[in-house]
Formats: sequence, structure tokens, C-alpha cells
Amino acid sequence: MFENLSERLSGVLDRLTKQGALSEEDVKTALREVRVALLEADVSLPVAREFIKKVEKEATGQAVTKSVTPGQQVVKIVHDALIETLRGSEDPGALKIDNPPAPILMVGLQGSGKTTTTAKLAKRLKERDGKKVLMASLDVNRPAAMEQLAILGQQIGVDTLPIVKGEDPVAIAKRAKTQASLGGYDVYMLDTAGRLHIDADLIAQAAAVRDVANPRETLLVVDGLTGQDAVNVATEFDDKIGVSGVVLTRMDGDGRGGAALSMRAVTGKPIRFVGLGEKMDAIETFEPERIAGRILG
Ligand code: GDP
Repeated sequence: MFENLSERLSGVLDRLTKQGALSEEDVKTALREVRVALLEADVSLPVAREFIKKVEKEATGQAVTKSVTPGQQVVKIVHDALIETLRGSEDPGALKIDNPPAPILMVGLQGSGKTTTTAKLAKRLKERDGKKVLMASLDVNRPAAMEQLAILGQQIGVDTLPIVKGEDPVAIAKRAKTQASLGGYDVYMLDTAGRLHIDADLIAQAAAVRDVANPRETLLVVDGLTGQDAVNVATEFDDKIGVSGVVLTRMDGDGRGGAALSMRAVTGKPIRFVGLGEKMDAIETFEPERIAGRILG
């Protein structure tokens, strides 16, 4: 669907430069194409602009090695800069789960893939790290969501907190904590309620649960296909609740991954995992290289 950026650049740039260094003019010409590629990949305009500015400074005057064309050289510079922006200082897959039982708070909008991601991560913690995990649904307004988590728990062999009708989310969080301590669990995951939009009630509820649970990680689940919306959601959740990391779901779809760059650049929050399908194994640690490749096409 999209023309590969390297091909596009070799068209415009390789006609220009024959000498040994990238001139300002060449870089500008090339970066016009890069900007289009970023926008096509759903990177937001301010983030794309900022990124281009940074790369322009870096690339101008750089020597072009004999083995590559100027176009390839610019692509490499852009690629490296993308990875640098996407990569945080921390190891994305390393969740803070020492001091058992460690609470993990899962937040996000309804339909983002929060419950599925909770179960996927629980399975991963159990199988990869040998952790004993307890999951609890706090979505008291949607009994179907509570049922869904229980069904997923059975499917993956991870315990869920028994459902008690009429309990409020804070009481459920407290019961999960007690159960996790008594039952010798390493981790307990709190799947908070989702709504279609962020509203005061949703935030108040998540904040109240956060205050009693004192989570080691607060992971925000967002739909990676929603582009700028995903970034707005993350900004708001981070302002109001404070998040320690982001999980981007639906990265198996045909989105080009630009939301990841905007997410990182705007919120500064690390992307920890990506969801790659509906199955329980379809989750991976975030890899900047992969997303950079996808953004550049
Ligand atoms: P919640 O309302 O946020 O808890 O969302 P759910 O966990 O119920 O997920 C909503 C739908 O999205 C379900 O049909 C999931 O199977 C699907 N889903 C979740 N994560 C992914 C993903 O990474 N890729 C794809 N293709 N589908 C996903």
C-alpha cells in the first residue's frame, strides 16, 4: 500500500548528491519525504515536526560512506533517531514485582483490550517467570466483564478472585490484597472498570483503587490503532492516575505504528508490551527496532 521510504528517497535524493557529504539542501529534500512517511504512519504533526528538526541537525554534513547511497544514509539516520526516541532507559519487559504480593493495576478505556491484556500478562508471568498470579475484576458495572476475566483465568490456569455480588471496587481491591497475601501469590492484578470515554467517575474510581492498592505498576492499555486518540487517552490517564507504562494493543492490525512514537514523545512513558492478536500468547515485549521498521515502511 505504501511506497517504501528507501525507494522513495533514492528517487529524490540520489539524483542530487554525488559528493562525499550530505548537504543541507539534500537533507531538507530527503526529510520532506520522511515527514510524509511519518504522517502516513499516523505520527502526529507536532511530533513529526519536532523529530524532523532533530534529524535535520544530525544529518546535515554527515559523511556518506562509499558503500551506501545518500538515500540509504538518510534512512539509517532517521531509523537510528526513531529507535533512540522510542527506547526508554528501562527494560520494557521487566515489571516491578518483587516484594510479594505485588499489585499491578490495569487501566484503560472499554474495548481497548484491557481484560485480554490482563490475562495475557498473567499467563506470561506464570509461564516465563514462574509467578503465582491472582487476577481480580473490578468492573462492577459490567458483570459480563467480570465473567470474561474468570473464563480467561480458567483457560490459562490462573486464579481469579471469586465474584461477590454488590461489592464496590475498593472493597474488591482490598479483598484481592488479603487473598493474595494469605494464598502466597507473587502478583495480583486488578482489572479496573473501563468506559467508552474518560469521565470523572472512571478516574475517581481508578484513583480510589490506586490509593488502597498502592500498585507497583500501573499499566495503561490503549488501542494502538487509534493514533492520536491513544496519545490523548494516555496523557489524561497519566495526569490523573499516574501510569508506569503503556501496553499498545492491536499492533497486529494494519496500523503503521506511528502512535508508538507519538506516545513516547508526548507522554514520555515507556511502552512495555504490544498486543498482537486475540490469543492468550499474542503479547510481546516492546521492541523499538520493529516499530521503527514499520513506521518507515
Ligand atoms: P476491554 O473492554 O478493554 O477489557 O477489552 P477486551 O479485553 O474485552 O478486548 C476487546 C476485544 O479486542 C476482544 O475481542 C479482544 O479479543 C480484542 N483484542 C484485545 N487485544 C487485542 C490485540 O492485541 N489484537 C487484536 N487483534 N485483538 C485484540
